[in-house]
Order: sequence, then structure tokens, then C-alpha cells
Amino acid sequence: MPHVITQSCCSDGSCVYACPVNCIHPSPDEPGFATAEMLYIDPVACVDCGACVSACPVGAIAPDARLTVEQLPFIALNASFYPDRPAGEKLPPTSKLAPVIPAPEVHAHHGGPLTVAIVGSGPAAMYAADELLTQQGVRVNVFEKLPAPYGLVRAGVAPDHQTTKRVTQLFDRIARRREFRFFLNVEIGKHLSHDDLLAHHHAVIYASGAPNDRRLDIDGMDLPGTGTATELVAWINSHPDFTDLPVDLSHERVIVIGNGNVALDVARVLTADPDELAHTDISDHALSALRASRVQEVVIAARRGPEHSAFTLPELIGLTTTAEVVLSGADHEAVLRDLATVTEPLTRQKLEILSTLGDASTAASPMARPRIRLAYNLTPQRISGQQRVTGMEFVVTGSDEVQTIEAGLVLTSIGYHGKAIKDLPFDDKAGVVPNDGGRVTHSDSDQPVDGAYVAGWIKRGPTGFIGTNKSCALQTVQRLVDDYNAGTLRNPIGKPSALDKLVRERQSDVVNAAGWRAIDAAEVARGESSDRPRNKFTSVTEMLDAAAAAPTPPLHRRLADRLRELADLA
Ligand SMILES: Cc1cc2nc3c(=O)[nH]c(=O)nc-3n(C[C@H](O)[C@H](O)[C@H](O)COP(=O)(O)OP(=O)(O)OC[C@H]3O[C@@H](n4cnc5c(N)ncnc54)[C@H](O)[C@@H]3O)c2cc1C
Ligand code: SF4
Ligand code: SF4
Repeated sequence: MPHVITQSCCSDGSCVYACPVNCIHPSPDEPGFATAEMLYIDPVACVDCGACVSACPVGAIAPDARLTVEQLPFIALNASFYPDRPAGEKLPPTSKLAPVIPAPEVHAHHGGPLTVAIVGSGPAAMYAADELLTQQGVRVNVFEKLPAPYGLVRAGVAPDHQTTKRVTQLFDRIARRREFRFFLNVEIGKHLSHDDLLAHHHAVIYASGAPNDRRLDIDGMDLPGTGTATELVAWINSHPDFTDLPVDLSHERVIVIGNGNVALDVARVLTADPDELAHTDISDHALSALRASRVQEVVIAARRGPEHSAFTLPELIGLTTTAEVVLSGADHEAVLRDLATVTEPLTRQKLEILSTLGDASTAASPMARPRIRLAYNLTPQRISGQQRVTGMEFVVTGSDEVQTIEAGLVLTSIGYHGKAIKDLPFDDKAGVVPNDGGRVTHSDSDQPVDGAYVAGWIKRGPTGFIGTNKSCALQTVQRLVDDYNAGTLRNPIGKPSALDKLVRERQSDVVNAAGWRAIDAAEVARGESSDRPRNKFTSVTEMLDAAAAAPTPPLHRRLADRLRELADLA
């Protein structure tokens, strides 16, 4: 009974280190790891010890006998990564190994304990904090503009992917370390500047993500009824800036432009059974709108053919095992044409699944749930409608043929773009802060910018999964620690108590770790009566009220903090 990795794998590689027989690949030292859609367990070599299960932060691994019906395709998917062999026969050792980033080792220093500010609290920030805090004495202060942490894990990951959100339990454990401090509801660039942070820290790691959507530049994109998939996802996930987003689901069809995983998330949620979503952490406003929804079909439209589908194979398996997904006759033909020529194994597996989908021309049963249509070779031309969206005009890619699809809501999902950070250089074309392995460099030279580092999407662009940010953050921390050990970082001039005072002067509503724990507990309590993991607050005011109810820290904690302050002053 081998173990199997399933859909929620976010490729952080933790299971690899737990496995006693090295049967999980690609491992972080193998070349395919950085771009892997997920990791795979070799069913021939797995000895079924279960060690990987507890190492996985998102509960993605289970023995094959315990999989749900929807997860069964993952048995074949794991096995297909490996060549067929007799039981017990090991794989030949991998010949080409990728460079392994050594663990950072902080050397004792005359400049006091290494103190680092991290901007943002998404996966990149939390993995960077984790790496730094493996070293004795290092201090980390995390600044997040929202009162609730964890970036896109809270505001992006779809509510029906609750196992993926389990990674927040790991982040909560990191945040409970003594040398870790949260400064939530504090925006860098608004409340504090880079120089303010540098005055109190040896270095600043910016892990502020890539929050801007790439825009589709066609006529009609400003009409009511147009928007972006990210805005919709943020509205679904109770992000306080999107609570009042006007979302009209009174029409029969929604079009999503682009076919990456986020487009699939949106289509799945818009077509899911609201009674099932009612047991997730979806926002109350989204749940009410979905209960009243008249949407019958979500069309996911892509400019290129099936071979170039942007979604990952695990997400396609997840979609087709939980929703009704169809293709038009022309798209079925395109899939067959691609199958005749494509040899790359992962793409072939996607095409094989697509070839089994139902036909869009078959009328959907009026009793059935709304369906999803994957549409290919459609290049967007313009949005139709006068007062609001009534549909979208495409040309069939590579021809003059015009196709119009009626719809009441058009959402774009064509990628993300980083946002410039005040006081730092920015590469507007790539949407990232220029950097060398995480060390920020000036735009016009390779010279480093004093004390500035980046990690996650603002460093490498909006690609990869939650776990991809782990090795990305490790590389950045390695650069930072090298600089600290070499003595090139300036010592902070302000004491920790002065930092507290400064933050409170600039943002009296700062939320600390105890405040976050109070928000967290209140949300979980609100969800309990309706069998939900949590019922999230949808406004900053509600969150601040909940944070204000945080109990005073216990005496031993206050004493320890005071002793630490006195040590700093000495
Ligand atoms: C809609 C969506 C769904 C996704 N679903 C999945 C999934 O199911 N599984 C998976 O593996 N990956 C998923 N991903 C990818 C994953 O979320 C990203 O890889 C990851 O979140 C990037 O991490 P990050 O820390 O760079 O950025 P983010 O997670 O965006 O975190 C950035 C943080 O910085 C804060 N911030 C920004 N500017 C400032 C400032 N000036 N001051 C203070 N704070 C600031 C933001 O509020 C935010 O909390 C999804 C991505 C999206 C967009
Ligand atoms: S069950 Fe044990 S042997 Fe199998 S993949 Fe997990 S850790 Fe490795
Ligand atoms: S999320 Fe990490 S630990 Fe879990 S299966 Fe994927 S790579 Fe392994």
C-alpha cells in the first residue's frame, strides 16, 4: 500500500527530508524541482512508513487505501513519474544534481544580534522568518499592511481547498517563536519608510508579493460587469478591501479569460454547490450571492490550443473529478490533433483527460449544477454591451472567424504584476525589484542597495506554488547572512522599545501577535455554530475590535520581554 501525493501539494519539499528511502522526487537537489507542479512518490520503492505524512504542512499525502474517490487518479499520476520496474528495484541515481543552497550560519558579531525586518506576511515572508530563526539569537519583526497575516494563503487560495490553507498552522508555529514579532496593520511606504526600518534593523526583506493584475487592453474592459479573477477571489475570501465589490450573478454565463489555476479556482467556486461551500471559510457575502446565482455556465477562454493549457495537471484532475467540464466539438478535434503530435508526458496526460470530457453541444440537465466549458483558440477582440457587459467578441486564433459569446460577467485571469516599493528600484517591465539572488541591486548597476533584500513574487515574478517560496526565501536569507557575517550591513541605531514607540506614533492601531491570535480565535468561534473552519471578518474595523479583546500576555512573558529590553539597553 504505497503512499500517494495528492492535489494540495504545494511543492515545498518537506516530505523529501522525512522519507527514509528517498522515494519522493523531484527532490530539492534535482533540476526539475523548481518547476515541478507537485512531487511524486515512487510506488515501487515506498516502504509505507508514513513519515512523510506528518512532515507535509498541507495534508497532501495519504496511503492509497485511504484516498477519496476524487483522489484516486493521483495513484496513477504518482506512478507515471517513474519508469515501470519490478517491485523493490531502485531507480538509478540521478546523474545531474542542481546546486544545493547551504543552510545559513550566522556568526557572532559586534553589531549585536542580527535583527531583520520582513515586509509582508505571505509564504515568502514566513519561510524567510523560519530560516532566520533557525539561528540562535536572530530577531525578526514582520510588518503586514492588513490586520490578518499570511497573504494569498488567506486571501487567494480557494475556500474549497481547505487542506492547502493548513500551511497557516506551520506559519502560526513560526509566529509563536520568542524572537518573532508581528506588526500587523502597518503599511511600509505609508506608515514607515525603508530608512525607518533600517534605523532599527540590520536589513529589510521585502516579501510584498505581486498584487496587480495584468490588464487586457481591449474595448469595453471598463464596462460594469467586467473585472479580474483576483478581485473576485479576494471578495470570495473576505479580503477587507473587496467586501463591496459589485458582483452580479444574475446572468446565465460568466467568461473567464485565461486558463491558469486561478481561472480554474474561480470557475469551480462559481459552479460549486453552495451547501458544500457553506462548510468552508468562504465569505458570507459570496455565499449569499452564490445561493441566489443564476449562472449556468462558466466559459474559460484561452487564446491558444489545448497543448498550451496553463493550468497544472493536479488542478485539472481536481476540476474534472468535482465539476461537470465540457468541450466544444472544435476543441475536441483540437485535443485529438495535439495528442497526435505532443510527446511531453505531463502535457500528454492533460490532453488525455481533456479527450474524455463531455460535449458542450449536449444540453445540460436543468437539474444539474452549472457546468464549466474549457474553450480554446479564442483571441479576445472586444466586450459588447452599452450600459453593462452583454457578451464578448473573439476571433478564432489564426483566422478571421468571429465568435460572440453572451455573458453577464467577464473576468480576466491573465497573470500578475509586482507593484513598485517606495524607496527601492523597480523593473516595471518584469514587475519585480531588480536583485541578485535576493540582494536588491540598483537599476543602472549591479551594486547592492543598502540593507535591502527581496523574496517571493516581488523577487522572481508571479510563478510557482506556496512551497516554491521556501527555497526562494532560503536563497535570500543566505545572501543576507553572508553580508551580515562579512560586516557589510550597518548596525541599527534604534533600540527595540524605540521601534515600538515609533510604530505606535505612526499607526496607533498596530496589531501584535496576541491581537492576531484574538482575531483568529474569534473567527474560528464564529464558524463553529455553522460547522465552518472559520467565519472571517470582512472589515478592518471588525478585526481591530476582535484584536482589542486580546488578553494581556502572562506575567512570565512580560518579564521575559522586559529582560530582553534591558539586555538591549545594556
Ligand atoms: C488567487 C491565487 C490563488 C492561489 N492558490 C494557490 C494554491 O491553491 N496553492 C499554491 O500552492 N499556490 C497558490 N497560489 C500561489 C501562492 O499564493 C503564491 O506563490 C504565494 O502567495 C506568493 O507569496 P508571497 O509571499 O510572495 O506573496 P503574497 O502571498 O502575496 O504576500 C504578500 C504580503 O505582503 C503584504 N504587503 C504588500 N505590500 C505591503 C506593504 N507595503 N507593507 C506591508 N505589507 C505589505 C500583503 O498584504 C501580503 O500579505 C495562488 C495565487 C493566487 C494569486
Ligand atoms: S510512506 Fe515512508 S517510504 Fe513512503 S514516501 Fe512516505 S516517507 Fe517515504
Ligand atoms: S506539500 Fe510539501 S511535504 Fe506535502 S507532498 Fe508536497 S512537497 Fe511533500
